[in-house]
This record gives sequence, structure tokens and C-alpha cells, in this order.
Amino acid sequence: MKKEDIIYRLKRVYAEIDLDAIRYNMENMKKNIASKTEMIAVIKTDGYGHGAVPIARELEPLAFLHGFAVATAEEACLLKDAGISKPILILGYTFPYSYEKLIQEEVRMAVFRYDTLRELSDAAARLEKKGIHKKAKIHIKVDTGMSRIGVRADEEGVCFVERAFETDGIEVEGIFTHFARADEADKSAAEGQIILFEQFLALIKDRTGREIPLKHCSNSAGILELPRANMDLVRAGITLYGLLPSNQVQKDIVRLAPALSLYSTIVYIKEIQKGTGVSYGSTFVAEEKMRIATIPIGYGDGYPRGLSGKGFVLVHGQRAPILGRVCMDQFMIDVTHIPGAAQGDTVTLIGCDGDEQITMEELGVLSGRFNYEFACDIGKRVPRIYKKGGEILCIEEYYKDF
Ligand SMILES: *Cc1c(COP(=O)(O)O)cnc(C)c1O
Repeated sequence: MKKEDIIYRLKRVYAEIDLDAIRYNMENMKKNIASKTEMIAVIKTDGYGHGAVPIARELEPLAFLHGFAVATAEEACLLKDAGISKPILILGYTFPYSYEKLIQEEVRMAVFRYDTLRELSDAAARLEKKGIHKKAKIHIKVDTGMSRIGVRADEEGVCFVERAFETDGIEVEGIFTHFARADEADKSAAEGQIILFEQFLALIKDRTGREIPLKHCSNSAGILELPRANMDLVRAGITLYGLLPSNQVQKDIVRLAPALSLYSTIVYIKEIQKGTGVSYGSTFVAEEKMRIATIPIGYGDGYPRGLSGKGFVLVHGQRAPILGRVCMDQFMIDVTHIPGAAQGDTVTLIGCDGDEQITMEELGVLSGRFNYEFACDIGKRVPRIYKKGGEILCIEEYYKDF
């Protein structure tokens, strides 16, 4: 289908995801880590709102890509159903209803509770009775500073690891921890976590005589700035989408390209006189005659209401400020200074137009919404167009009756 025909239908709003940028980000990160270290692409929350399946399909052929990580059983199964065959790891606690299916599908689970070891073992035994000979592959989660999930990195933790080794139907494939503060300028807290993790790995070896094959701890911030955290695997999340983990990390270590752009269209233009209020609550009142334009997207699409009176969009390569409150499905902008602006013109909410660029980080700061959250919250009412080599590869739409 021709791009013009597709865009004609998606003029209200669409996100464009550049799969070349996604691959470029992964390749550049790989150059920054040890040659023996492989990568896990973290594509939880539907690939941070970018779309997990098209991204997984794009990245799967990369030789240095070990596999993928998600947050839930459903996210893992969605990838399996889409034909993804590299290993998938569930990073959080997995509830027991899904164990048989996940063992069959060889989805790896993060494990840190004794009851999970028992329940996984029972599930593997039930499968065995059905003639399916598969072990539950697990990655033991270690808490070295997040206080979120994970066993303690001490003798108590070693007991857990020993129990996991001894439990029938379980294969301990990996062990990992997660940084709480790797995105800060001061790396001492993160380095402390690495040391604790390394000591724990040594303790396991000492007590059990065994080594767990896959050890990993790094997230995006670690990939950028903590070479010591390159173990067998690293887990790339936000940087894979071309976004930074925080404004404290160095921007020039790895070249990253933002993968997502967000577009809409001017649907109405009018002049308003001095003293006219704009949007709910009239939080903006014109101080002079103005030309304003209406954009048909709002917080119902995940465009933050926090941008009310603060954000801006690009029209004809120029910044146009948001006037008054962002509504659920619409908001207004000032185009007084852009005389060429007309109904039907494209509006760039995130991305580049001419020399101007609006990044998700910038809108995150303006709206008080963390950039990770910004990406994840782009709603299902927003169709996603995937581009590769400048061509449209596919479109993902939640509503598609037309
Ligand atoms: C989300 C997550 C990641 C990825 O974090 P980024 O900062 O996006 O790179 C890595 N590991 C775990 C355990 C996570 O929950």
C-alpha cells in the first residue's frame, strides 16, 4: 500500500517507529560493551510503547542478540505466538497459573521464592506425566540494592541457590541483579552493587562448586557507563528506543537515534479576539488578536495533560505553543507566527520537522512525566507505522474497521 493512502486514513494521529533506528541503537551499544557479552532486548510494556513484536522480529537475526526480556507471562506468550524463537526472560514475579505453558514454551522466569521452586517443579512433573520432558529454566534474581525482588546476596541467598540446584525439574540457567542508581553521575552506588553481586557469585562457587552459566546485571545506564557490569549478558531497555535513562548520563558515549515520532494534523484554524479564553477553565486568555489551530489528539491518546500551557508542537518546522488545557481528545496551539499554517497541515508532536526537533525527554521534563513513562503511555488509540529502509513495513492498529 502506498504511504499516502495509509497516512490519509491515519491523519488524526499516528506514531512512526523507525526499525533502522532500533537496530542502529543496538549495534552502537554492542560496540560499547565487551566482545564476549551478548545482549538482551528489553521489550516489556509492548516495547516501551513502541511495539514488542515488530521490534523483536527486527532484532532477532542479530548475532549478538541473546534474546528478549518482558515483564509478564502474557507478554512472553505474545512473542512466542508471533514466532519469536530466541530465549525470552520474564523479569518480574510470574504467577503460577502460567507455569505449565511457560515451561513448554521454554520461557525463562526470574525466581527468588521457595514456593516458586516447588510449584515449578510440580508443573514440570505434571508435564512429564503428559509425555513432555522439559525442565523449567530459571534465572535467579538477586537483590543487591533495589529492595524490590530477589534473594539476599549472602549465605541466605546461597541456601536458595542450593535448593534451586537440587530441585527436580529445574535448570538454573542464569542469575541476575538490577541497578537502582546506575543512571546517576556518581556511580559509587552502582559499583557497590556490582561488587556485592560478584562476591555473591564467588560465594556460590565456593559453597556449591558450581557456576551458573548466564550472569547479568547491566541495564541501559550500565551499558553506557559501567564496563565492569558487562558479564555474560546486558539488558538494554530505554536506549534501544534511542532514549536516555536520565539527564545525568553522558550523551556522547553511544550514538543513539530516537525511534519514535508522533504526528497529527491541524483540523481547524480560527482567529480569536483579545480577551477570548481557550479550552477548559480558560486558563489561557488571548491578550491580542491571535490565530489558533485545533489538534485532534489529547490525553486519551496518552498525550499528557501536564503539557497544558507548557508544551509545544512543530508546524512548518516552527515551534507552536499549546494554549490552555490539553483535553481528552483535542488541544489548541498558537499559529499566529506561522501564517502558512492551514487546516490539513501535518503537526509533529515528537520528532523532527526541518531544523527543529522535539524529543520525548524534553516533553517528559515539561509535563513532569518520566520519559520511560511517556513512551509507555502512548495509548492504543494511536496506530503505529513501522518503517524500514524508508519504506512502510507494517501497521499495527487497535481499532481497524476502516
Ligand atoms: C526494565 C528493566 C531493564 C531495562 O532498564 P532500562 O533502564 O530501560 O535499560 C533491565 N532489567 C530489569 C530487571 C528491568 O526491570
